[in-house]
Amino acid sequence: MDFLAGLNPSQRGAVEQTDGPVMIVAGAGSGKTRVITYRVAHLIQKGVDPFHILVLTFTNKAAKEMRNRIMSVVGAEAKNIWMGTFHSVFAKILRVEAELIGYPRNFTIYDTDDTKSLLRSILKEMNLDDKLYNVNQVYGRISQAKNNLISPQEYNKNEALKAEDISNGRGQLGEIYMTYAQRCYRAGAMDFDDLLFKTNVLLNKHPEVLHKYQHQFKYLMVDEYQDTNFSQYLIVKRLAAVNENICVVGDDAQSIYAFRGANIQNILNFQKDYPTVQVFKLEQNYRSTQTIVNAANSVIANNQNQLEKNVFSDNEEGEKIKVSRAFSDNEEGKIVAELISQEKALKSLNYKDFAILYRTNAQSRAMEEALRKINIPYKIYGGTSFYQRKEIKDLIAYFRLTFNPNDEEALKRVINYPRRGIGDTTVEKIVIAADQHQYRLWDIVANAQMFMDGRSAASVGGFGQMILSFQALAKTNSAFDTAMHIAQHSGILKELYEDKSVEGLTRYEHIQELLNGIKEFSEREDIEERGLDVYMQDIALLTNDDNDKDPNADTVSMMTIHSSKGLEFPVVFIVGLEENLFPSQLALNSRTELEEERRLFYVAVTRAEKKLLLSYATSRYRWGTLNNCEPSRFLDELNPACLDLDFKPRQSSSAESGGFQGERIAWQQKETDSFSKPKPKPFKTTSILPKAHTPSAGFTPSDTNNLQVGMEVEHERFGFGKVVNLEGSKGEVKATIFFKDLGQKQLLLKFAKLRII
Ligand code: ATP
Ligand code: MG
Repeated sequence: MDFLAGLNPSQRGAVEQTDGPVMIVAGAGSGKTRVITYRVAHLIQKGVDPFHILVLTFTNKAAKEMRNRIMSVVGAEAKNIWMGTFHSVFAKILRVEAELIGYPRNFTIYDTDDTKSLLRSILKEMNLDDKLYNVNQVYGRISQAKNNLISPQEYNKNEALKAEDISNGRGQLGEIYMTYAQRCYRAGAMDFDDLLFKTNVLLNKHPEVLHKYQHQFKYLMVDEYQDTNFSQYLIVKRLAAVNENICVVGDDAQSIYAFRGANIQNILNFQKDYPTVQVFKLEQNYRSTQTIVNAANSVIANNQNQLEKNVFSDNEEGEKIKVSRAFSDNEEGKIVAELISQEKALKSLNYKDFAILYRTNAQSRAMEEALRKINIPYKIYGGTSFYQRKEIKDLIAYFRLTFNPNDEEALKRVINYPRRGIGDTTVEKIVIAADQHQYRLWDIVANAQMFMDGRSAASVGGFGQMILSFQALAKTNSAFDTAMHIAQHSGILKELYEDKSVEGLTRYEHIQELLNGIKEFSEREDIEERGLDVYMQDIALLTNDDNDKDPNADTVSMMTIHSSKGLEFPVVFIVGLEENLFPSQLALNSRTELEEERRLFYVAVTRAEKKLLLSYATSRYRWGTLNNCEPSRFLDELNPACLDLDFKPRQSSSAESGGFQGERIAWQQKETDSFSKPKPKPFKTTSILPKAHTPSAGFTPSDTNNLQVGMEVEHERFGFGKVVNLEGSKGEVKATIFFKDLGQKQLLLKFAKLRII
């Protein structure tokens, strides 16, 4: 059977254009991922060796699904395709080449927790205020420096970065970055950003290695190209430089990782980098009903910064988009749970046909409770990973030390866990001694008697001996035997076994689960190397979703919108559509940030195949206090013809009687045509710290008596502006204000939070 018959002419064109640079920038659901999948199958059918194909996806899960589909066309050969996320593919390559850049092959991958813990120690050693040097912000700054390929040395030489840090009161960031990089190096560890940064270093400094991989990867494909950062962009560019058989697919309207350094410019640059690029347009959305596609188009049209695209659906018109209003997050959960039950019964659907998407993980709680109450099975994606649980990380820290005793975060974690009489003071002594002599922590531990006396020397020395014995054992034993031995002899199993509390039992079960997983790995027949070191290689890159034991279980899926990228579900709920939640409060400082939130909403809407349901609550607990909420501006941006408002008013407040449209109409008057919209801000390259958001203190609903035309005002969200008109009668006065950054808006004064300046 000709499997290419499942493609439309443009898709087929892109699949058959196997040689030379190819780019597809097209709307959601238009078959971009399908094109990549078919393209790989087609290449293999044409005789290309799967080992010569590299496909970069955004999640491990996406890679797995793609591989399975390809396998169904070309058979088991598909196993040999190089396919995975940037991080997992390049971690694999770095394992082979690490020694060339001064790292051990068994280098540790520091996860976010390790990175933060290391940064905290450095801040402490440098006596820096951890409020000013907030660890997340410091991490963000270092991360973006790396993603822009700025080394610590370059960072410290860069006057613009230094000036920016100084103006933020964080003049020592350069030094922190330098120390952090040195510590990682000393520990034989790479953090997530290093996996890309060091790959660039490797390919840059070692032409022979670059040459090898350029010839290895004869065909390159990248899905979700809009979310690549500079570091990823450069790796792809370097690898593709010889054959130029590179195909990228993406959608600028779905770029949602700018906050992590992703750069839409990579799409625009592609045409410049490869002047001979063949561009294919995909305009038909096969995923969603016409109503959903129209709604999505109406939202994204509000963004100025986008490539022109035409997206249509030939599917049925479909049901209108239901909008529900709740008075609290718990009630919102209840409404969603009831609607799921109803829809499921009415349309004979399965639970797995439903997805609930939210902006922040914190919103899952109310949803979970409501689903549990009426026994709806659900699965949360992207939540705390199994591998992030304390007990799992503890045991894994022993594994890490076994293969890389220089791993300082692992060492600090378990040197006295389970307790073996090595107190904090002793650990501090070890750290100080290491710094003094420029040794590694492990050097001190392994030679404890030279650096300390009596009991400390005995207990630290004993710990060192134990790790050495694990190392010796690991050389000749299977992954499972090694892991079991370590679990027993480290004392972890006993420690957890003796804890008879419910939590203790659960922790013990988790360890069992990990060991079972390792047993399965030890018995795999499809791979040659089955030592614990091999099992450990990717573990830091695994997420909860990769640990999914039963991917076909009939459960409702719950996840953040960020994790829903690329996925599709027959029925989708987007919950929490409220100002300051979605769009997020942190994204209201500039048009650029707001546009990213809107793209996120676009991603959410376009996950739905048949039916989309939206909801918001008029009050919600956040950070422990009950807040009144306004409906999201995104609700107003949806084409009203696509909506079906389902309001059962529970409060008699006049502001609510007209639904979100009545409530928000004054907020959302579109700028009049006579004022040209401000140009979108250029992409920032140096400003890489998240901005502090404006505190809301000082803003109160304005005093209408005082406000006059010509006055200058500051609005809580819109910033500075000038009053150009006032109209309406007492209590309903509308002010037309020209805002410096946003242009003209009409506000209903009784709701507007203005300050006269
Ligand atoms: P996103 O932007 O959300 O990642 P996408 O462009 O990658 O979307 P796909 O996921 O590849 O889109 O396709 C969307 C849906 O449409 C899938 O279910 C896919 O199987 C289906 N589809 C794509 N092209 C066709 C086609 N020619 N015929 C039938 N179904 C198609
Ligand atoms: Mg896709």
